[in-house]
Amino acid sequence: MSSSRIGGTLIPPGSHPSNQVGGKVYIPAASYPSKSDPTKGYNVCEVSDGTTSCDCMGWTRRNPPGGRTCRHTQDYELTLRADWNALNNGLPVPHATLAPEPVVQAGK
Ligand SMILES: [Zn+2]
Repeated sequence: MSSSRIGGTLIPPGSHPSNQVGGKVYIPAASYPSKSDPTKGYNVCEVSDGTTSCDCMGWTRRNPPGGRTCRHTQDYELTLRADWNALNNGLPVPHATLAPEPVVQAGK
C-alpha cells in the first residue's frame, strides 16, 4: 500500500455519492489538504471516461493540450489510485445513466 506524498487520504469507493455532470460520472476518490489554507481541501475524483479530476484552481483554470493535471491528480495517480482500484475490485467507473444537458446555442 503506497501512501500519498502530499498528505492525501483515500476516499473508499461507495462511501461518498457520485455526481453526474455533463454526461460523465465523478466519484470522489481522495481528499487533499490545501497548502495555503489549512481550513480548505481539494477532492480528486475518478471520472467515467478513465481520467481523474480535481477541484483546485490549478486543475480547473488550466486546460493544456495534453490534458488537465495538477499536483493532486499527479500524486493520486502515482500513489493512491492503485489502492482505490483495488478497493473497487478493479471495476471501471460506470458510465452516466443521465443524458448530458443539451447545449444551448446563443443567437438561434
Ligand atoms: Zn488539484
